[in-house]
Amino acid sequence: MSGVKKRPLLGKYIIRGKIKLKTGLRIGGSTLGISIGGIDLPVIRDPITNTPYIPGSSLKGKMRSLMERLLNKNLNKNIGTRNNPIYIHNCSDPQCEVCRVYGSTKTNDEDVNIPARIIVRDAFLTEKSIRILDSLETDLPYTEWKTENSLDRVTSAANPRSIERIPAGAEFEFEIIYNVEEEKHKKEDIENIFRALRLVEDDYLGGSGSRGYGKVVFRVEEVLFRSAGYYKGEEGEKVLFKESIEDNEDIKESNIEKVMEKILSTSDT
Ligand SMILES: [Zn+2]
Repeated sequence: MSGVKKRPLLGKYIIRGKIKLKTGLRIGGSTLGISIGGIDLPVIRDPITNTPYIPGSSLKGKMRSLMERLLNKNLNKNIGTRNNPIYIHNCSDPQCEVCRVYGSTKTNDEDVNIPARIIVRDAFLTEKSIRILDSLETDLPYTEWKTENSLDRVTSAANPRSIERIPAGAEFEFEIIYNVEEEKHKKEDIENIFRALRLVEDDYLGGSGSRGYGKVVFRVEEVLFRSAGYYKGEEGEKVLFKESIEDNEDIKESNIEKVMEKILSTSDT
């Protein structure tokens, strides 16, 4: 064990906005126990409201994996299984641009854990989307499903599966928190978080991305900075960006690049 280490909290950036689905989204839920309408591959749902949502871990994992590739990091840790390996980058270098933001866990005794500086909250459907999806005549609450055939490569038998997805057009509220722990990393970390979101837009969320699922756009509505002084009651928060989306507005385009430029150009960042 290493000795006593300080982890000062210098402040928090809070990024909030909406995620809009440009194509249907599938983030798989548990097939155990609950089977709704005989669906083979259900989407993940909030157990209280029964509405489908985007788990923060899915968005965070996608952002991380795209940054690992953009920054050409070694993919050295298997977080999948032996038969179905999923390799991610993980190191114990506190300066590493990926691990210091997304965290890393020790893989051997000499390594150290690096706690994540980013928190990605679960993204829930907006009130507006719940209303719209509620009014659709579908067999399942807030979703659509279709049957896809996959061919068994050995027997050539068709294997129809019913697959559930959240329809294109649905909107979710997202929130990402970045904890400032080192002043010298702040600007680069913020820039990398926005770049990751931009990359997700040109990639996909959830499953079946190569078949067109999971295309999203982000519309940031506000970026706030709350310093340590704010939490000690000494000063107010700073609004670094604000642009509300009207309830009747149809989100068409991302504003990630615009917001990133604005945030990075202010002297407060
Ligand atoms: Zn690393």
